Amino acid sequence: MTAVQPKPTSVGETFDSLSPATDEVVGTYPVHSAEDVRAAVDSARAAAEWWDGLGYAGRADRLRQWKGVITRRLPQLCQVVRDETGKPIADAQLESVLAIEHIAWAGKHARKILGKQRRSAGLLMSNQAATVEYRPLGVVGVIGPWNYPVFTPLGSIVYALAAGNAVVFKPSEYTPGVGKWLVDAFAEIVPEHPVLQLVTGFGETGAALVGAGVDKIAFTGSTATGKKIMAAAAQTLTPVVIEAGGKDPVLVDADADLDAAADATVWGAFSNSGQTCIGVERVYVHERVHDEFVAKVVEKSRDIRAGSDEDAQYGPVTMPSQLAVIRRHIADAIERGGRAVIGGVDSVGDRYAQPTVLVDVPEDSEAVREETFGPTVTIAKVRDMDEAVDKANATRYGLGSTVFSKSRGVELANRLRTGMTAINAPLSFAGIASLPFGGVGDSGFGRIHGPEGLREFARSKAVARQRFTAPLTLTSFDRKESTDALVAKLITIMHGKR
Ligand code: NAD
Repeated sequence: MTAVQPKPTSVGETFDSLSPATDEVVGTYPVHSAEDVRAAVDSARAAAEWWDGLGYAGRADRLRQWKGVITRRLPQLCQVVRDETGKPIADAQLESVLAIEHIAWAGKHARKILGKQRRSAGLLMSNQAATVEYRPLGVVGVIGPWNYPVFTPLGSIVYALAAGNAVVFKPSEYTPGVGKWLVDAFAEIVPEHPVLQLVTGFGETGAALVGAGVDKIAFTGSTATGKKIMAAAAQTLTPVVIEAGGKDPVLVDADADLDAAADATVWGAFSNSGQTCIGVERVYVHERVHDEFVAKVVEKSRDIRAGSDEDAQYGPVTMPSQLAVIRRHIADAIERGGRAVIGGVDSVGDRYAQPTVLVDVPEDSEAVREETFGPTVTIAKVRDMDEAVDKANATRYGLGSTVFSKSRGVELANRLRTGMTAINAPLSFAGIASLPFGGVGDSGFGRIHGPEGLREFARSKAVARQRFTAPLTLTSFDRKESTDALVAKLITIMHGKR
């Protein structure tokens, strides 16, 4: 049998959103043209001015009300997420709850992080009062993926809005209904102006948004698309945030709590069918505990099953083309000497992929090097944690990572070349609203969430105000030789010490 769920198809001016569990049409949406997108960005401009004019308190109040609407209608939102992604309702709720926390945090902290701050002017410029504040950019274009269609795009949208920008949002073609639901809920709370707008369609609509005169693009999706977006944005020097793919490792030290590490591995690798940018794809385990750890992972994995019934722990592979990638990575690993201790190539069906745990996989195989984005994980034995760190870092990606160690957690975390690390619990950094989220290398750059996420959607404005005439005039052709001599003396006293 072959994969059955087609990519959403464009029928004239519209396209259908399909359930990945049943192929049923769950919604029909416009394919917005470049003209439509430009019109949205143009109308967002005036909306942005109005939104900025509301000030921090006004915006915080609207964000608080929006959060209330989302919270009270959570079951409805979770159903839309399930319809379009196939994920269990409980998982849809978890990502929505985390997103609500971000709305609360961003609204509450925007003034403190972005509002006017005094800076020290230094001795030579002590006649000046120095301040900086973070002004909104204007209109931000947000392009989102489908795997966490609430949590992921809101990670950009919420911070851009809290910073005073208007937003034009292009959700994934697999989850336009979730995007529409969120935007409609916002419009109920902010009916005056189109501060948050939706445009729907495929990659072309996303590309049109990049070229529509926005002041920044916040992109979350694959590394390949991120590169195209950056190249296109370079034409107009439009800044970008790129939140791209990952190949996240878990390190398990000899003194680790093995039950907790195995539980984190199984959940991190298989939940959401492995379609998690910060999902666990590789594990490096100290040789002293390797066999015991693998046995625990195998034991726990036996209880995990993909399906669409109430008892299944995770749902279908949302994007059918990914099934071939998952199959290829497993096949390559096995051909090159790896062993499947759970699952294998046959675990990947037409819609669902059952868990696969691979051991003895060469480090240069696709299953270790490329993002699989499926419910598979490789486990490798290492001599010591130095080898674990070296192997974990030997990747183009650098998004998240997890360390299980009782005595060396922080030290190992600091040595990992990733934007985020969780110690002794899986993916915990993603649930802490005050922590920045983002990667290095092929995982992208720029940050969402936390103070860094607010500043990402603002421009710093520095102001130096002269409080009184300086005793030494430095910036004038009337400057005296005696002034230069005095400055030379001063700077020697201040900075010339050996
Ligand atoms: P994708 O790159 O295929 O698509 C993402 C979005 O980009 C979609 O809305 C798509 O329509 C749009 N797009 C496609 N081509 C475009 C173009 N040329 N110009 C502008 N927009 C274009 O990614 P996906 O399959 O939707 O998402 C899965 C990927 O996202 C995985 O690699 C995953 O790791 C990554 N991801 C990363 C994060 C993170 O925070 N780093 C979070 C979630 C997902």
